[in-house]
Amino acid sequence: LLKAISLSRSYGHDSTTTVALRDASFDLMDGEFVAIMGPSGSGKSTLMNIIGLLDRPTSGSLIFAGEHTANMSPDHAARLRNCRIGFVFQSYNLLGRNTALENVELPLVYAGVRRRERELRAAEALDKVGLSDKAQRWPLQLSGGEQQRIAIARALVTDPALILADEPTGALDSRTGNEIMALLQHLNEQGRTIIMVTHDDIVGSHASRIIRLQDGTIIGDQDVPDRLLTG
Ligand code: ADP
Ligand code: ADP
Repeated sequence: LLKAISLSRSYGHDSTTTVALRDASFDLMDGEFVAIMGPSGSGKSTLMNIIGLLDRPTSGSLIFAGEHTANMSPDHAARLRNCRIGFVFQSYNLLGRNTALENVELPLVYAGVRRRERELRAAEALDKVGLSDKAQRWPLQLSGGEQQRIAIARALVTDPALILADEPTGALDSRTGNEIMALLQHLNEQGRTIIMVTHDDIVGSHASRIIRLQDGTIIGDQDVPDRLLTG
């Protein structure tokens, strides 16, 4: 699904250059659940932004679903991002003036899907996260765990090839965080490919593979032998 070849990303120039990512290479197969781990400033966001087609490497290349991303037009990258990648954030990023269902519909609005079909598909996605009964709620009428499940439904609604989750449990207490990890594991068992950033070892050990970053360099890339299974 993904091939990263010697990705590097620097910020600034001359004497003030920061190398945020250095020579990162890895392959990702369909169906994997990868945690990207490392201390603050180690390059996790930089790597996620490149994988999510929000940023480009200074050197190296990224092949996503067989497509070289280096010389892709911004329009094409935006279309791939909207239709093939689902994003989940630490702070949910739901629109407060839209219902849960409308929030889940959003990626389909951008994709130009008609209203009736949008509603059907958003309702299906809400069903997958167990929140059909909350479709007409406002985000602030929902608990943090529920808001994150709405955000996961929004990430699923386009049937993406890849889900990118940035600290998905970072704003939740540990019990609710575990429920979110159980949901992500369940989706992975159904064949969803997931890349998640976390700095929490317990959260990371729910994944099946951990890529460790330090000072912009991949210092480890291993399957998780004693993977934590929830639910
Ligand atoms: P992490 O997500 O692991 O905390 P980041 O990818 O955000 O790490 O940052 C990696 C390094 O790149 C850090 O030294 C950070 O200060 C630097 N960095 C990140 N974004 C920028 C930017 N837009 N401009 C300059 N330096 C940046
Ligand atoms: P969780 O199982 O995610 O921890 P809670 O026990 O916090 O859920 O919430 C139980 C119910 O209370 C939920 O169905 C939710 O709709 C409602 N609820 C939780 N927090 C709030 C809030 N801040 N405002 C309104 N309703 C809330």
